[in-house]
Amino acid sequence: MPDKNLTAKEKKLMEIHIKSTNIALATNVKKTMLTVDEWIERMIMEGMADKEIERRVEQAFLKGNGPFATFRNTFLRRTTGLMNRIERVPRDADKELEEKYTWICMHSNSCEDCLALHGETHTWSEWLDIGTPGSGHTQCQDNCNCDLVKEGETLNKEFKNALDLAEERRKEIVEEGGAVHVGGER
Ligand SMILES: [Zn+2]
Repeated sequence: MPDKNLTAKEKKLMEIHIKSTNIALATNVKKTMLTVDEWIERMIMEGMADKEIERRVEQAFLKGNGPFATFRNTFLRRTTGLMNRIERVPRDADKELEEKYTWICMHSNSCEDCLALHGETHTWSEWLDIGTPGSGHTQCQDNCNCDLVKEGETLNKEFKNALDLAEERRKEIVEEGGAVHVGGER
């Protein structure tokens, strides 16, 4: 975060982002612990020696594979998402929680998750739950160029062209029979 004084609104939004990331990370830890527990139980059932179980768990932990692979990926995605959202704080701080915003894809090469969200309108507080652009809940993850604009806001010409391209691509995907879906867990 650039070293400058934050406004009250910026501070508040930062807190919301950090809190939701904390919750997600705590869930990630819990899920991982459950899979590790199951894994260990399975090895015990198979009659594996304690020492060997210990060795395998340690190796998987150090290499970030086995049950720790998902943990590592989710952790990286979440922390990157948090950094992105923090970067956008100065721009987003003035958004009103109860005001409605429309998800806009800025490029024809937006990912399918973003294209599925393109044109959807929710309140800012709902978007914070669903996930804001670049927060890591879409396939493009932190490479997201999408934006949330105030519902009904007049868009400039360049912006409209980008929208038309995105809409065209979205139709193509649907016609190809590809599911334009909102992807997995955030
Ligand atoms: Zn996007």
